[in-house]
Amino acid sequence: MTKFSDLNLNTKVLKAIAEAGYENPTPIQAGAIPAALEGRDVLGIAQTGTGKTASFTLPLITALARGRARARMPRSLVLCPTRELAAQVAENFDTYAKYVKLSKALLIGGVSFKEQDILIDKGVDVLIATPGRLLDHFERGKLILNDVKVMVVDEADRMLDMGFIPDIERIFGLTPFTRQTLFFSATMAPEIERITNTFLSNPERIEVARQATASETIEQGVVMFKGSRKDREASEKRKVLRGLIDAEGEKLTNGIIFCNRKTDVDIVAKSLKKYKYDAAPIHGDLDQSQRTRTLEGFRNGELRILVASDVAARGLDVPSVSHVFNFDVPGHPEDYVHRIGRTGRAGREGKAITICVPRDEKQFDAVEKLIQKEIPRLDNPVKSSKPADEKEDKPKSTRSRSSSKTEETVETTATSEETKPSRSRSSSSRSRSSSSRDDRSTNKVVGLGDHTPSFIGLSFEERMAS
Ligand code: AMP
Repeated sequence: MTKFSDLNLNTKVLKAIAEAGYENPTPIQAGAIPAALEGRDVLGIAQTGTGKTASFTLPLITALARGRARARMPRSLVLCPTRELAAQVAENFDTYAKYVKLSKALLIGGVSFKEQDILIDKGVDVLIATPGRLLDHFERGKLILNDVKVMVVDEADRMLDMGFIPDIERIFGLTPFTRQTLFFSATMAPEIERITNTFLSNPERIEVARQATASETIEQGVVMFKGSRKDREASEKRKVLRGLIDAEGEKLTNGIIFCNRKTDVDIVAKSLKKYKYDAAPIHGDLDQSQRTRTLEGFRNGELRILVASDVAARGLDVPSVSHVFNFDVPGHPEDYVHRIGRTGRAGREGKAITICVPRDEKQFDAVEKLIQKEIPRLDNPVKSSKPADEKEDKPKSTRSRSSSKTEETVETTATSEETKPSRSRSSSSRSRSSSSRDDRSTNKVVGLGDHTPSFIGLSFEERMAS
């Protein structure tokens, strides 16, 4: 087996790795690090959880250990699709570059340009950025990319989902032709293949096993659920979710609930909170400080349940999630693999439960086809354990006579918020596109790719009922 000491890494980097407690390189690291240190381009086909971040960070630190950056001319560039992922890569740098004197700057939306300008002016060795914010800085004339020696593209498949590929191509064009490129993607869609053929030169290609096939420690299940009436389906589905959470009891130490739509992330989180579950939402429309606080709480165990959209949760490094719930079947089957990959990491046991309504059955078939496995059908915990009961619809702590708050209250609250002009879909996407281009998903329904979702153009209530 390859050892870190065989990889020609800087001794200061080796010291930091030892302190991080890593014993041996993961397969993507063993494959990518030597090639990257030789100066070759790397095409890593790997997803979160495989150790891919260190597979580009460690050689980058080693390569940059000598030399200094000039003002406004970063020596390396790491592009990430989301702010969270960029922040996480920055954290990784801090860990591994602990004993190497390197300067770094994080260019993400939601943070003032001024602070970022000051850092860039001083000269940075490593610039970690989301594509939109990077181009904003470039267009303001604050950034020169002529001295970029190494460019990393992380999670290119997600960049594609978010509409960032034209930005990536533009950034490639702004960096020197002689740069080294380290390119990572979980999947190789034709568009990604095209980019790599255009911008990478004879890359070392390293592909590591898909997590769904690799991780046999994830117990999977699906509840096939049909609402009693169309207009009740949404609230009944949330009740099924609560039933599933309750059925797990203490085994659920912490979990992520994935929804396809940002509006549902908010509604589900609000509903769970109302029922006294320890839950909070995370998606691209929440402000940065709130997202950071929520994530921090989830990481350190203060928050038990995170309700998330695919984009927001993408690449989040939360090492020990006991449960993943798919409130919706994801639109892209690969997203199922990403989602359930949040649990059962590093040999730990994990459980992933999906709720599938009739209109999502086709998508669910696609998931089973992709993972080449039939996912066991589970009983609907609500139906099987307790017959539908009016009282059941009341929050845990408010089931006494004094309360009149029901699931309908949640619905109403969310509905009225949704219809406020300042929060409407069109106004929020307009204001976002003018202030930041980091979350292009605003214009797109997360997880539905290029399909035109049937609820677009419908009122919120109609959408909920659709
Ligand atoms: P990533 O795929 O980059 O998101 O990494 C997933 C997790 O694996 C992170 O928590 C890393 O700290 C951890 N990790 C990375 N490399 C190693 C290694 N060689 N041994 C053990 N853990 C690692």
